[in-house]
Amino acid sequence: MDHNPIIDYPIKFELIEVRKLMENRNPEVVEIIDEEKPIFKCKLCGTIWEPETGSGKLRYSYWQCPEGCKP
Ligand SMILES: [Zn+2]
Repeated sequence: MDHNPIIDYPIKFELIEVRKLMENRNPEVVEIIDEEKPIFKCKLCGTIWEPETGSGKLRYSYWQCPEGCKP
């Protein structure tokens, strides 16, 4: 067999998961620079940080600027 359509399913599922993950939960402070890594930037002070996504989830604290900026 040259093509196995079953291979497509896990890839589509993964894309849906990434999109869900990248819903901006703190849009007043966080700018999402790179959705794939991901990389965030603070709109207030310009700090750039890379939240850990090892478990496939972003903790609430990752949506806060490391410098503690509040809108
Ligand atoms: Zn900041």
